[in-house]
Amino acid sequence: MQPIKLLKSQLYSEDPGAGRPADPILQGGRCRCGYVFFPMQVYGCERCGSRGNALTPQPLSTRGTLLASALVHLHADKSRPAPFTIVKVALDDGPVVRTLLADDSCDIVPGQRMTAKLVSLQRDDGETVFDLRFVAAG
Ligand SMILES: [Zn+2]
Repeated sequence: MQPIKLLKSQLYSEDPGAGRPADPILQGGRCRCGYVFFPMQVYGCERCGSRGNALTPQPLSTRGTLLASALVHLHADKSRPAPFTIVKVALDDGPVVRTLLADDSCDIVPGQRMTAKLVSLQRDDGETVFDLRFVAAG
């Protein structure tokens, strides 16, 4: 099977599994002090300041708990479609991520379980790419 094209492959990848698109895995990192962060970076640990090879890639689960959400009615870039919903999710592995909700019509409340999936988008050049979106966990 051909790999699908991911919009931000430095942030997430496909968890090889049944069905397409497969579930995503977040490209996080872990410091030798135990601190887990997202996305992966080598500039320095936010907790202890260690750098370089103290920081190693750590695949993270996309499961987490909703902290907050905001419905945005107008994007600063008027060519971008609105409305859309931004969600802030505390991942079970620790880091907090802020990204888009897959479906604005679903009701979400802080404290509920969330997970991410890969959704297809049509780029301006017509190419289909996949990007990460959060959904309410079933
Ligand atoms: Zn550290």
